[in-house]
Amino acid sequence: MQLLKDKIMKEGNVLPGDVLKVDSFLNHQIDAELMQAVGNEFAEKFADAGITKILTLESSGIAPSVMAALQLKVPVVFARKRKSLTQNSNLYSASVYSYTKQESNEISVSEAHINSHDTLLIIDDFLANGQAVLGLLEIAEQAGAATAGVGIVIEKGFQPGGAMLREKGLRVESLAIIESLENLQITFKEAVEQ
Ligand code: 5GP
Repeated sequence: MQLLKDKIMKEGNVLPGDVLKVDSFLNHQIDAELMQAVGNEFAEKFADAGITKILTLESSGIAPSVMAALQLKVPVVFARKRKSLTQNSNLYSASVYSYTKQESNEISVSEAHINSHDTLLIIDDFLANGQAVLGLLEIAEQAGAATAGVGIVIEKGFQPGGAMLREKGLRVESLAIIESLENLQITFKEAVEQ
């Protein structure tokens, strides 16, 4: 998606450890117009997939998910990283190792919001080693829900998550795929559009 790639080039900063900082439009401040375009792109790609709900992870997955949900006319469920006092004991949960925080988080979703009649679209901001998506897939499985595919805003194609998920037969649609962050330079993989 050219608009997204242009924004990454203009405002993205490469941090040591192969981390791309995009706090000005995705991870802290949110560019609502860009997120709307991102959401529309996901909605277009999965328009015929029979999606009944979008499943994402708080907090950075929420904005692109809500924008896609507006188009697909389905609700968004976000997995929580901390249990809220209002959450009862009926939870689906999975353990996710965070690439950027280098710690494991227990993520959870109330059983009230996903069930075996659902066909899910999983959306997240970044795909690196695939741990966040695996955790969301585990929650979908616990609910007996089908997963139609995965929508990723920025995939770091030099890390193994994308290949691992595609090898499982999952449909993974990434709107920008980064080939390398070597020497603090951002280069994209060609043929991003799948
Ligand atoms: P994974 O679980 O695929 O290893 O990593 C994906 C998660 O880690 C995303 O939910 C995202 O929050 C975070 N993440 C991974 N790499 C990056 C990165 O380069 N930049 C930012 N901002 N977040 C990242």
